[in-house]
Amino acid sequence: MKTSLLAIVLTVVCSHSKAAEPIQVGVFDVDASPPVGSPMAYDPVKAVTTPLRCTGIVITGDQKPIVMCAVDWIGIGNGGQTIFKERLATAADTDPDRVAVHTLHQHDAPRCDFSADHLLVEHELSGVGFDPGFSRDVISRTATAVGQAIENAQTVTHIGVGQGTVEMVASNRRILGDDGKVLHTRFTATRDPEIRAFPAGTIDPQLKLISFWNGDKALVAITWYATHPQSYYRTGWPILTFQEWREMRDSQKPVCLIFISTVRVETLVPANGMMERKRIARSWPIAWQTG
Ligand SMILES: [Zn+2]
Repeated sequence: MKTSLLAIVLTVVCSHSKAAEPIQVGVFDVDASPPVGSPMAYDPVKAVTTPLRCTGIVITGDQKPIVMCAVDWIGIGNGGQTIFKERLATAADTDPDRVAVHTLHQHDAPRCDFSADHLLVEHELSGVGFDPGFSRDVISRTATAVGQAIENAQTVTHIGVGQGTVEMVASNRRILGDDGKVLHTRFTATRDPEIRAFPAGTIDPQLKLISFWNGDKALVAITWYATHPQSYYRTGWPILTFQEWREMRDSQKPVCLIFISTVRVETLVPANGMMERKRIARSWPIAWQTG
């Protein structure tokens, strides 16, 4: 994911050197908090204490616009991806394959899959796994916000690329024995200290960041980091696993978006999300300064 994202951004910006139209970037930020009582992945929403969001950027230039967004949901799949991309593409006057829709994959968060819901309708189970009306409302508001982002887009003169090391957050899920077979599995919350004590294994240790600038004015930055981002869940509250990271984002100018790719790595310290959150937050300013 990170390679393709970086490739898209660098291709667009670098190809601009011969282009007549300036590269511009616009930002959008939409509330994506689920209604109380609506289904999340595992439990219905008790209350919303930490609003969820759908944030993104639109890059315009000589070519058709590129839209990238990150939603604080557990997943958007199948028909959810199709509808999301089609609606945002229409709003940006571009093609759906130039729209990337990411989710951060917290477990206490909604999912969106219109294909699955279509199958459930004939069994009168629509709305059991997720709230399709709520999802369509978020998509509609995001599409409106994409149009506004284009209207308010600003010229990009420079980009920055930075990274910061993230320690003691991610680890391999599977631990192999001397025979090459799986000896232990680290699940989302691994309570056995001996299994937790095995080396982290092969992970992506870097939080990556790309920033967009107009002269010395920072316009926006996007970040991403690969992990399965939780060690506890089933609280009944929509949550952001790395809350401190978000707070740091909100305290910074400009807005910083977060893309977390989900891969088969697991959080290392179960039942101690606060430690993980502070650790990942520490990597942000390093990435910013190096970018
Ligand atoms: Zn998961």
